Amino acid sequence: MLKLNGIYACNHPRMRRMNEVGMLRLLRVRGPMSRCELAKALDLDTKTLTNVSRDLLKRGFVESVGIRSAVRGRPNELLKICGTRLQAVGLHVEEHQLTGALISLDGQIIQRRRVALSLRDSSSRLVAKVKGIIRALVRSARVPVLGTGLTFPGILDYSSRTIVACAHLPQWKGVHLDDLGAAPLSAMSYTGAKALAEHWYGAARNTDDFLLVDAGEGIGCALVNGGRIDTRRRYIGGELGHTVLNPKGDLCGCGRRGCLETVASLSAILKRSGVAPAVSGAGSSLLALQRRLSSGDRAAVRAVKDAGRALGLALANQVNVLSPSRIVMTGETFELSGEFMAAIQVALAAFVLPAYYKHLKVMQSQLGRDASLLGAAVLILQATFDA
Ligand SMILES: [Zn+2]
Repeated sequence: MLKLNGIYACNHPRMRRMNEVGMLRLLRVRGPMSRCELAKALDLDTKTLTNVSRDLLKRGFVESVGIRSAVRGRPNELLKICGTRLQAVGLHVEEHQLTGALISLDGQIIQRRRVALSLRDSSSRLVAKVKGIIRALVRSARVPVLGTGLTFPGILDYSSRTIVACAHLPQWKGVHLDDLGAAPLSAMSYTGAKALAEHWYGAARNTDDFLLVDAGEGIGCALVNGGRIDTRRRYIGGELGHTVLNPKGDLCGCGRRGCLETVASLSAILKRSGVAPAVSGAGSSLLALQRRLSSGDRAAVRAVKDAGRALGLALANQVNVLSPSRIVMTGETFELSGEFMAAIQVALAAFVLPAYYKHLKVMQSQLGRDASLLGAAVLILQATFDA
């Protein structure tokens, strides 16, 4: 049974907002439920539950879907999330393009638009492109839009709401979220957004506490605790790829030596496999690597196994500190070969403390490439209740 730790059974205003988010997520995960079932699952008393559901019904987040007759006692009114009647704008920043989408609360992508981005774009040009795509999406929406969530490959300073680093697009550095022309607007790194998406729509639907690991060109992790990523601090952390494994190792993009990414990022695996970076883009290099792996090429298999072992070791150290009960794995590197995941599992078994390992579940993402966009929608949903 889904248990939410009783943390929602508090009448403090912040706890009330958490009750609201908890109820919405539960209705999203389980489908229509009666107030009685909701109160039991959320560990709330009837009065608190009635107040929360009344407010959500009034604001249009939840609707009644009829009465279910009971064998004993009174018939129950069933409530369900208004998945399609409310939408959010999700924005996903990549090296060469900005993708925007209208996303319903039940995780459906209603409409998608793309704008090309270039290294030659100035900061003001980038901001204008963001404003343009938000405007176009909001204008075309047929239902109320809650706000905008933005995901990008970098670091956000939550205290000043300023982007302090963005991989591949240095012009994003210094951009203030309040200058992007949308309110409310929330932002988060890809990895954090993917974790929120897994919690609402994916492999972590039935837990409020897990660690998500995202392995691709960069390697990051995000800790979801009590159903949320803690953004009350300046940074959310999660730079697993810059965990130093060997101070005398190869030079990393961050300027230090021996970070996990020097062994386990996609470009490190390509380099160690002897696959030259393709002029026609990273996609063709990956295809070349995949062909080598399929044919059992020893250097390629060894590079993937070494990467998995290194990631497993770094991850085991995190598990020993944070003791998550679940890890959700996502990212392009997992698509390369089963050898990668197998090597991670071996390292976890070897290096996680037995008491923690006994209860540790490792799962793979089910969401695919749209996870960041879906996470952007969750971000704005949660922000709506935090306002
Ligand atoms: Zn580094």
